[in-house]
Amino acid sequence: MALQKRAWAEPFKIKMVEPLRMTTPPQRQQAMEEAGFNTFLLKSDDVYIDLLTDSGTSAMSDVQWAGMMLGDEAYAGSRNYYHLEEAMQRFYGYRYLVPTHQGRGAEHLLSSILIKPGDTVPGNMYFTTTRAHQERAGGTFVDIIVDEAHDPTDERPFKGNVDLNKLEALIAKVGAKRIPYVSVAVTVNMAGGQPVSMQNLKELRALTRKHGIRVILDATRAVENAWFIKQREKGYADKPVAEILKELCSYTDGCTMSGKKDLLVNIGGFLALNEWDVFEEARNLVVLFEGLHTYGGLAGRDMEAMARGMEEAVQEAHIHARIGQVEYVGEKLHALGVPIVRPVGGHAVFLDAKRFLPHLGQLEFPAQTLAAELYLEGGVRAMERGIVSAGRDAKTGQHHVPKLELVRLTFPRRVYTQAHCDVTVESVYEVFQRRKAVRGLKMTYEPKYLRFFQARFERL
Ligand SMILES: *Cc1c(COP(=O)(O)O)cnc(C)c1O
Repeated sequence: MALQKRAWAEPFKIKMVEPLRMTTPPQRQQAMEEAGFNTFLLKSDDVYIDLLTDSGTSAMSDVQWAGMMLGDEAYAGSRNYYHLEEAMQRFYGYRYLVPTHQGRGAEHLLSSILIKPGDTVPGNMYFTTTRAHQERAGGTFVDIIVDEAHDPTDERPFKGNVDLNKLEALIAKVGAKRIPYVSVAVTVNMAGGQPVSMQNLKELRALTRKHGIRVILDATRAVENAWFIKQREKGYADKPVAEILKELCSYTDGCTMSGKKDLLVNIGGFLALNEWDVFEEARNLVVLFEGLHTYGGLAGRDMEAMARGMEEAVQEAHIHARIGQVEYVGEKLHALGVPIVRPVGGHAVFLDAKRFLPHLGQLEFPAQTLAAELYLEGGVRAMERGIVSAGRDAKTGQHHVPKLELVRLTFPRRVYTQAHCDVTVESVYEVFQRRKAVRGLKMTYEPKYLRFFQARFERL
């Protein structure tokens, strides 16, 4: 048999281990019922392979841990703040930094400052916390992503792109003055981790400049987007990921960032801006909600770990292995005939629950059901990204009914091995084989905000 050459292997070895607990099917049945069929309500100790999220769940390196010991915990002017500021300017290229405890802290500040009641905020598909803050500030989110983003079988390479015709039509309708900024996420989580092309960002910049509208990047997974540009877009194959990242940011006016994803830390985030006036207001406001402007709710050691994480995030071997692992799982499931969002995204494999459980109506919560079944099968924890996550329309109170009804298998960075990946694939396939017997759910408790976190369900 010919040996197959590996495209990637983990560019690290393991120095410290954390034991995993395996459970029996009756134990999982009980845990799932106690959790109201919501994987967010499971105890982590009852989970074998945790693919709930890649948020804050990645493994830090020895260099980052060493940095934790160099935390300067002064209340004001911590040296780690200056290191973080320097690293942000070097890798992302924005002028001003406001640290926040995590991404939504930055979204809160930005939305409060820029959005006035009645404003419209266009975006390439919504993200849960981002849209919640835009609405809380009195704005209305309008989706301007390309149509193919809503089709899980469409193989186009940049399904996160902004549809510039939709944006132009929106500007004509509401007027540029009522659009404080365009909210662009790279990659697009809710579309399945799909990237945006550099060409699209350039064209977006040209259009928004003409109308005097800002572009604010959700840079949470921008490194992963840069990797896809390197793989898929003409002219970028030989450019370093770090260079692509900086170019990508150069077409925008600022960013919100959850450091818990690309930046390989367990907590942290920031708001970065190029405009002095907006920065000044954010620096004032952060004191009210997060902490002084040189720590923003973080310990000095957290800022140090994030600054060091920034350097590691753009290393080619790291990002290759990170996305390679996700691709490995995606391609295996695809080969087994399991319906997933194509192409495989950067941080997660998304199971298409509508095609996986076609006998369930959307109000029987197929993705919520599938996530529960996966846990029952193998102790693998995933997350619903469908009608539960989409929530209700703030004005009419009706369910948002998204076209995509997905279950996200999200891979923490540098945490699980290829054998864990194989177990995950096997668990999904077991459920797939008995899918016709799976019954749906009904919602028995619904919280007011971001209901997917705490909602409870019962089996129909
Ligand atoms: C996680 C995430 C956020 C919110 O960040 P938190 O750190 O969880 O508050 C915003 N946007 C995207 C794309 C994310 O993935």
